[in-house]
Amino acid sequence: MFDNLTDKLDKAFHILKGHGKITDVNVADTLKEVRRALLDADVNFKIAKDFTTRVKDKAIGSDVLTTLQPGQLMVKIVKDELTELMGGETAGVNLSGNPSIILMSGLQGSGKTTFSGKLANFLKTKKNKKPLLVACDIYRPAAINQLHVVGDQIGVEVYSEPENKNAVEIAQNAIKHAKANGFNVVIVDTAGRLAVDEQMMNEIANVHAAIQPHETLFVVDSMTGQDAVNTAKAFNDRLDFDGVVLTKLDGDTRGGAAITIKSVVNKPIKFIGTGEKMDAIDVFHPSRMADRILG
Ligand code: GDP
Repeated sequence: MFDNLTDKLDKAFHILKGHGKITDVNVADTLKEVRRALLDADVNFKIAKDFTTRVKDKAIGSDVLTTLQPGQLMVKIVKDELTELMGGETAGVNLSGNPSIILMSGLQGSGKTTFSGKLANFLKTKKNKKPLLVACDIYRPAAINQLHVVGDQIGVEVYSEPENKNAVEIAQNAIKHAKANGFNVVIVDTAGRLAVDEQMMNEIANVHAAIQPHETLFVVDSMTGQDAVNTAKAFNDRLDFDGVVLTKLDGDTRGGAAITIKSVVNKPIKFIGTGEKMDAIDVFHPSRMADRILG
């Protein structure tokens, strides 16, 4: 994960680790390399620039030039700033409802259906919940089948109405079904498209308004880098979602989406997907991610 970035940051810190005496030129060179590493990771120019400015200010404030181990101090400063950039604290999911309603949004192929299953499995096995999965994709029968396959795999019931073409109605009926049958979490998987379009946005906004979810999650493929960030912006403008799910981190060698999405939409990353299997889900911890990035 993010191997390129980890390598490049490591090389950047070598500049400081290698010198007996540190000068402000060495520090500037290091910061230049850090910035280049972030840009190569598909972090946008302004975020990368602001990041290195903050690191520089902190480095000056903590007398990096006179410390005995300037390399280590710089790594710590960069780690703290990366943690902050990715959201600081770990953010939880609102499970206060009975049932708690969780709405999944995102483009087709982002990993929404897979993640809906992973989340149901996580809540069932780790949080002792009784989740109901709801198939609200009214365009692709294959998507409904896919959710049923996932549900069978993890032993979670899937609610669907294959003949009904009204997503709002399906979601509302599913919630009634959940209340009548003792389900305490309802996870609503919605239709995505290959790109942001008005019809998809209207439909999910209507479902959102009708069922008033406790938690709206936006699912995005981390490998799409800046596109992921732009899509997040479009969905957030419309839905004001509560959190981001970054999928396919196992295949992402760059890391730009993970690093920048929080600062662009001001919503935390709550979960990450790290594989195709149902247990490849992790709660997102900004400081642990920063540790991994720094190797
Ligand atoms: P949806 O169209 O948004 O519902 O996307 P799907 O759930 O069908 O996922 C699209 C593809 O991505 C499938 O082949 C999934 O197996 C795969 N996928 C989903 N999440 C992950 C992940 O975290 N890692 C990897 N490697 N593949 C994933």
